Amino acid sequence: MSARPQPPADTIAAVATPAGRGGVGIVRVSGANVGEIVAAVVARPLDARTATFAIFRGARGEPLDEGLALLFPAPASYTGETVLELQGHGSPAALKLVLARCLEIGARLAAPGEFTRRAFLNGKLDLAQAESVADLIEAATSAAARAAARSLAGEFSREVRALVDAVTELRMLTEATLDFPEEDIEFVREADAAGRLARLSGRLAGILVRAATGARLNEGLTVVLAGRPNVGKSSLLNRLVREEAAIVTPIPGTTRDTVERQVEVGGIPVTVVDTAGLRATDDAVEKIGIERAWAAIDRADLALVLVDARDTENALDPEDAAILARLPARLPRVVVHNKADLADVVPRKAAVDGRTHVWLSALTGAGMDLLEQEMLAVAGVASAGEDTFIARARHVEALREAATHLAAAASHIEAEAPPLELFAEELREAQDALSSITGEFTADDLLGVIFSRFCIGK
Ligand code: GDP
Repeated sequence: MSARPQPPADTIAAVATPAGRGGVGIVRVSGANVGEIVAAVVARPLDARTATFAIFRGARGEPLDEGLALLFPAPASYTGETVLELQGHGSPAALKLVLARCLEIGARLAAPGEFTRRAFLNGKLDLAQAESVADLIEAATSAAARAAARSLAGEFSREVRALVDAVTELRMLTEATLDFPEEDIEFVREADAAGRLARLSGRLAGILVRAATGARLNEGLTVVLAGRPNVGKSSLLNRLVREEAAIVTPIPGTTRDTVERQVEVGGIPVTVVDTAGLRATDDAVEKIGIERAWAAIDRADLALVLVDARDTENALDPEDAAILARLPARLPRVVVHNKADLADVVPRKAAVDGRTHVWLSALTGAGMDLLEQEMLAVAGVASAGEDTFIARARHVEALREAATHLAAAASHIEAEAPPLELFAEELREAQDALSSITGEFTADDLLGVIFSRFCIGK
């Protein structure tokens, strides 16, 4: 772990626009040698942050392309270094020539994400913001793009920093008291350490839900439909995706392979996987289908276990109960009592034995709205709204780790004779976990992993 390393001193260059032909193509250069590159390629002085028309020239003064040259002197630039943008034509061949010329004059080809990495190292962006640049570029839905823009603007980082500040304050109070052990109990009461900690944990929990939603926006949610043959899995898939994706028949055992479809639920990209009905069978093909069903269940983030509402009036059918018992313990689940129309029950939801149950009819569509809400709630995500910021699994893990340390701190402070050293230590660990999100203290190899996933030129 270390604080931000120093940015390197060399100059990097890359084509910043996507491969292919287009109206405009941009070569971007950043670093100490930009002045020499301006002199050689643009051959005229540039005013700061002013678009200047220029011919981009080769080694013998020959024109390679023409367009706008833009100079951003350090530190007022994307990377925090002096940056030059040469905006020529979107011609892969011409861009290659202009880039080669910049490399000749002493720049080197930028690695993926290196411009953004330098922006991070120079303090222009924190790590969560830098990651949101990649997430914005990669966004698959408009909800994801909006959430990434929010994170880029610093909304997520501000929330995390406010948490860090609150933890720091509590640590300072605690550490000031550590030197005067006889005042321990007094401190705990007067400073209302337990109360502050409870408020802090509440706030963290709220941010965790928002971040988990953001991570789902980024990565999507995989939902598997499981249950005995003929309970209506394929009908439910078709309802969820609003098309005839899977074959529906009254003959049990028709779905023999898994069928996957993409759909958006509450702005979250969801992959719905329909599986072969789970039952004992001697049919070789059906057996393979059932093996695949279990494999899909292992990969899923959420299981919808379908049962026939007519079978479940008093208790679950033993076969359904056996399927539920065989699901991986970590897998969140909703028990869907389908064919509510035939069982003559109204669509509703209920929590029974700590499990969420929804009654609906895949045939008529009644109750589908309830299911869509519960799917997200049980998977621990809210529907993406105006307060969602984009986040990643690593952020969610860090927030969870911080929550665990805060919970441990709470158990110490509630003790009769609070062990303040242990309390302070848990707070320190919570703070480290939170700081890793914005990158104040981050393992160097993590930076390599994060930035290598960017495209070149960003
Ligand atoms: P799967 O084998 O679990 O995929 O079940 P299917 O989706 O193929 O459905 C089996 C049979 O039940 C078909 O004839 C469907 O039309 C019927 N079915 C499915 N859902 C409902 C429902 O909610 N109400 C009624 N009345 N029939 C349904």
